[in-house]
Amino acid sequence: MSGPASELIVLGSCGAWPEPGRACAGFLLVHNGFRLVLDLGYGTASRLFAHCHDRLPDAVVVTHEHPDHCADLSALGRAWHYTVQDATPPGKDRPRLPLHCTPGTLRRLEAMEPRPHPASLFAVHDLGLATEAGPFRLTPFLLPHHQPNFGVRLEAPGLTVAYTGDTGPSPILTELARDADLFICEATLQTPPPAGEPRFLMTAGEAGHWAAKAGARRLLLTHFWPGSDREVSAAQAAAEFDGEILVADEGLTIAL
Ligand SMILES: [Zn+2]
Repeated sequence: MSGPASELIVLGSCGAWPEPGRACAGFLLVHNGFRLVLDLGYGTASRLFAHCHDRLPDAVVVTHEHPDHCADLSALGRAWHYTVQDATPPGKDRPRLPLHCTPGTLRRLEAMEPRPHPASLFAVHDLGLATEAGPFRLTPFLLPHHQPNFGVRLEAPGLTVAYTGDTGPSPILTELARDADLFICEATLQTPPPAGEPRFLMTAGEAGHWAAKAGARRLLLTHFWPGSDREVSAAQAAAEFDGEILVADEGLTIAL
């Protein structure tokens, strides 16, 4: 009946598009009963609902507006509208689900389904501003990517979880993940692009490098390019990072 007080459930582990049977970026972080969603890319909503039988999550954080991180927000908005909001007694304010995201994410959500308007479903917070999310202190870190992408550091007493979203190599990662209990780090590539090209994604070896620099306790590799051999990625990260390395897999549950 009673599981650990804190856990992270992987909803999706692919970058770009979902491999057969998998999904794109998404995690459910549960801490003392508070359910925080981190990204909700293609194919993640049904997996989220499988872990939220009794109610929907308490807050959502979306790192950036690419659809492999936000497409299934639309499905969550519909579920919220037709269950939680429609169950509200007449005359009472219809509750909105806290959503921390970039302005571009909201525009994409609105383009997909303008009615009901996302602002009537979600209580929208600017992800660029540090804030509280349930038991967590949320600190954003702007990281190099094609679109504005904020890595998020989530701190509660006794627990720190850091998540990159998508990023190229950056010394900011050492601040994002400093001494984190769990560092969820994108590891899209296995071979770096040619020297001189701008960097908006990382190799698994680079994920290990920055996890070591930050002094993270555990490293969760994710956002694998579809078709990648993930054992190769894990070995590349292990060459750079001495701590425990986990490989994201749909349904993987990590006790924190
Ligand atoms: Zn992505």
